[in-house]
Amino acid sequence: MRTIVTGGAGFIGSHLIDRLVQRGDEVIVIDNLSSGVIEFIQGHIDSNQVQFFNIDLKSLEQIKPIFVGIDMVFHLAANPDIRLGTKITDTDLNEGTIVTYNVLEAMRLADVKKIAFASSSVVYGEDAPMPTPENHGPSIPISLYGASKQAGEGLIGAYVGTFGLQAWIFRFANIIGHRGTHGVIFDFIHKLKADPTRLEVLGNGLQEKSYMEVCDCVDAILHVVSKTDQALNLYNLGSHDTCSVRNIAAIVVRETGNEGASIEYTGGDRGWAGDIPKAMLAIDRLEALGFRINYDSEEAVAHTTRVLIKEIMG
Ligand code: NAD
Repeated sequence: MRTIVTGGAGFIGSHLIDRLVQRGDEVIVIDNLSSGVIEFIQGHIDSNQVQFFNIDLKSLEQIKPIFVGIDMVFHLAANPDIRLGTKITDTDLNEGTIVTYNVLEAMRLADVKKIAFASSSVVYGEDAPMPTPENHGPSIPISLYGASKQAGEGLIGAYVGTFGLQAWIFRFANIIGHRGTHGVIFDFIHKLKADPTRLEVLGNGLQEKSYMEVCDCVDAILHVVSKTDQALNLYNLGSHDTCSVRNIAAIVVRETGNEGASIEYTGGDRGWAGDIPKAMLAIDRLEALGFRINYDSEEAVAHTTRVLIKEIMG
């Protein structure tokens, strides 16, 4: 199987590649290393199991030839920073919507039929019932990042309906774990490394979201793809519960050995404009396919904190 992973040098992409290489795929990575880390996949490149193209997916002309002879595309490339949209308003349009169009167009031109897409729980917006089922609607995102994910889903639906593609859309909860390069746990550890006496927490700390461990996430992706065969397959990926930001702060302070640090909340019900204070996805559809996650939210947070402390503190 010849597989393209866009964003394959990223946090989730690199874990997916570990699995694809393990199962014997010929893997081709397209990544411009804007937030990716080449060391995450260097071992696979050195052993000729992964071919790496340092190319920006915004250039359709450059990526077109790479798609010839490909069986399946895992499209993970995107701007990972939801907050950035509050300052730079065209990042998600370019790195999300346009890039997804380019990937689909390169697939159409090369007659590649299968795509899996990394979407997000944020497409549901903030008034969704919790846990949110896949058929909840209408879903109106409140961040530019969420809008680009919804646009990506729409484009995929259009290519499925118009050009006969087959697609798997995955709406991720917060994915955390080994090689994490962003997100709340990563931020807290960095803040405490810089100043072990205090930890600033954005918002009032009562934000409550679901967390999924990254190996559970990539295993779930591959499980769903292997067990489903509709033209368009839509799945939430998450865990059974939530963890509050206050709880995460307490875990990080404890695990870093900084119990004396003062935890200071900036106030307000959310971390930034466009943040969704409470989110939890229903994962019944995933579980109906016989998949079981290894970690619920708090276990995933504790596990990730320990792993990232080693990675960040050395
Ligand atoms: P990441 O930043 O580690 O990975 C994204 C990768 O895409 C990076 O390697 C980056 O260099 C690459 N990239 C970005 N723009 C590119 C471009 N124009 N051309 C080529 N490469 C480009 O982030 P991640 O956490 O691994 O996220 C992977 C995917 O999952 C993203 O689409 C993200 O939106 C989605 N997602 C992640 C989470 C999460 O909690 N981490 C939650 C929901 C959805």
